[in-house]
Amino acid sequence: MDFHCHLDLYPNARAVHAEAARRNAFTWLVTTSPKAFMATSRVLGNTPTVLITPGLHPEIAHERADELGLLLSQIETMPAVGEVGLDGSPRYRHSYAVQHRIFGAVVKRCRELGGRTLSIHSRRAVKDVLIELRRNPGFGTAVLHWFTGSSAELKAAKDLGCWFSIGPAAFNSASGKSLAKSLPKDRVVPESDGPFAQVDGKPVMPWSLASTAQLLAVAWAVSPREAVTLLEQNSNRLLRAMGLP
Ligand SMILES: [Zn+2]
Repeated sequence: MDFHCHLDLYPNARAVHAEAARRNAFTWLVTTSPKAFMATSRVLGNTPTVLITPGLHPEIAHERADELGLLLSQIETMPAVGEVGLDGSPRYRHSYAVQHRIFGAVVKRCRELGGRTLSIHSRRAVKDVLIELRRNPGFGTAVLHWFTGSSAELKAAKDLGCWFSIGPAAFNSASGKSLAKSLPKDRVVPESDGPFAQVDGKPVMPWSLASTAQLLAVAWAVSPREAVTLLEQNSNRLLRAMGLP
């Protein structure tokens, strides 16, 4: 299983897609723009175990702001949305107002539609992400992908009922390893975030649940087998919440 993957952006996307479809019971392919969602659905669509969702990545929000209307209409027919969110790091600070407008509109639409599951980017912006979620009760389920906030922000996100998707690359840093210890064991699902996320210079692949489990086992002081079981149980629970088999 993989709950956050840019499958369409691997250099050999078709081959990776075929292998993910063969090896994974579920792969969530998050797209970065509404037009990319249309193109990817056309090229890679119609595989029941690969969910392709519309999104608008905060890093390109300023270039794609005119696609917001398209995104809001795509959300109507989909159980889930992503990748969406906010990025407050220095490099993307210039577009923060646009990002905020887009993310706010997306969460509001999810609420109006009775709830959706969102894969959310929150780098250096956890506080504002949580404010938007709180402002829209009934928006659905938030899955914070590759969480890198403070431990106080992690607690606030847990209290709000957020889920977390995490992959091997999150353990590259000491702070990532330490944060992983405090993730709620019953609300963590695996992700790759490939091909952007890398370990030892290689993109993480969508079938990396076992290595994520191994790293989580250390963080949680449980056996690797127990960590696999937790990830599988959580994944199945989240899939049911998303209305997927
Ligand atoms: Zn991503």
